[in-house]
Amino acid sequence: MPALFGKSLSDLTELMQSFEQKPYRARQVWEALYPQRVASVEDMTTLSQTLREQMMAAGWSVELPEIVQTARSVDGTERYLMRMADGETVETVWMPDGDGGERGDGSEAAEEEAAEQVDAEEAVKAGYWDRRGNGRPRSSFGTLAEKGYRRATICISSQVGCAVNCQFCLTAKLGIKRNLTAGEIAGQVAAVLNRHAIQIGKDRINLVFMGMGEPFLNYDEFMGSVRLLVEGIGVPESRMTVSTSGILPGIERFATEDVRPKLALSLNASNDVVREQVMPITRKWKIAELLAACNRIPLRTREWVTFEYVLLGGVNDQPEHAREVLALLKGMRAKVNLIVWNPGPGVDYVQPKPEDVERFQRMLIEGGMPTYIRRPRGRDIYAACGQLKRTVAEEQTQLVVLT
Ligand code: SAH
Ligand code: SF4
Repeated sequence: MPALFGKSLSDLTELMQSFEQKPYRARQVWEALYPQRVASVEDMTTLSQTLREQMMAAGWSVELPEIVQTARSVDGTERYLMRMADGETVETVWMPDGDGGERGDGSEAAEEEAAEQVDAEEAVKAGYWDRRGNGRPRSSFGTLAEKGYRRATICISSQVGCAVNCQFCLTAKLGIKRNLTAGEIAGQVAAVLNRHAIQIGKDRINLVFMGMGEPFLNYDEFMGSVRLLVEGIGVPESRMTVSTSGILPGIERFATEDVRPKLALSLNASNDVVREQVMPITRKWKIAELLAACNRIPLRTREWVTFEYVLLGGVNDQPEHAREVLALLKGMRAKVNLIVWNPGPGVDYVQPKPEDVERFQRMLIEGGMPTYIRRPRGRDIYAACGQLKRTVAEEQTQLVVLT
C-alpha cells in the first residue's frame, strides 16, 4: 500500500494535484502527518470526507511502523519490535530520563542533565527547574512531566540488521537485510511519541540514531529522516545524536550539512591493531583518518564530538589503552562516553572489571578529557547498546510482553 508518512511537502503537492486539489491541501496533509502525527487518513479531519475517501480508495494510508511487541525493563526502558509495511522488523528503544549519553557534549540537553545532578535548590537558581513543578523542569508540563520524568530519549534504527560486523555487537549477527527509508526511520519516532502521548514543545525528547544499523551506510535516507524530524515532527537537531562506526565518506559528507545532529564516533579501541580485531572495518579506514575527518567538522557553539568507547574486559580497558586514547584525542573538542560492554549470546567477550572501568575513567579525566560512563538501560530486556537483535530468545531476556 502506498505510504504517506515519509513524503515531503513537494511529494504531497504532486499527490494533491493528482486528486485535483489546490496546493494548500498538501500543507494540510503535511501538518496532519508530522506535527499532528495522525495514525490514519480517516483522522485527517482538515480534509473533506470526500477527499479522504478518495485517497483511501486509491490505497493511500499513513503507514507508521507498527509496534508489534513491547518489553519493559525494571528501569522503565521499553524495547519495541516495530513492523514495517513489508513485514521486516527493527527495534526501537524508549528511555525515560535518558541514558546519560548527552552529558558533557555542550548541548542544552546536557546542561539540563548537569543541572539535575546538583540539588534542587541549585537547579531552581540556575533556572532549569520551576518551583511550581516540584522539581520538574521549567516549561515542561507535558505528558512526561506528569509521569515524573524530566525528559526521554528514543533510540532508533537506521537499517534492518547491519553490515559492519563489529565483533562485540549482537546486531552484527543479523547481517544486513535492507536499508530503512526516511519515513521508516522517522516513523519509529512518531509511533513511540504517539504511544506515550508526547507533546513536542512541552515534553523534552532527545533522539539517538544508535539502534540497529550503520546510519552512514544509509546516508540519504538517514539525512532525509533528520529533515522530517526537524521540520515536521519538531525535534530540534541539537537534541539528536548520530553514532557511526567510522564510515569516512559519510563523516566527510556530514561535515557539509547545514542541518545535522551531533556526531558520536564509535572509537572502541586505542590503536588500529586492537580496533581491527574488534571492528574489522578498521582495515578500510584507520583511526587517524577518522579523527582528521572529525576535526574538519565545523562545530557549532556548544558542540563537542562524542567518542564512544565500549570497554571489553582485558581487550581495551587497561592503563596503556587509556594513555593511547588520551594521546589520540589530545586537543580535540571532544568528550568520551564509556560503555560497559553488554553481553549477548554467541558474542565472545567478557565484561570489564568494575575497578578497571573506574581506573579508565579516572585516567582520562585526569588527562583532561571529559569522560562519562553511559548508564546501561534496559539490560534485562536486551535493550542496551549492541543488544538489539529482533528475535532474541525470550526466555533469556525475561521478556515481559505487554502487547
Ligand atoms: N552502528 C552505529 C550505531 C549503533 S551502535 C555505531 O556502531 O556507532 C551504538 C553504540 O553501541 C556504538 O558505540 C557501539 O560501539 C556500541 N555497542 C555495540 N555493541 C555493544 C555491546 N554489546 N555493548 C556495549 N556497547 C555496544
Ligand atoms: Fe553495526 Fe554499530 Fe553493531 Fe557495529 S556496533 S555491527 S556498526 S550496529
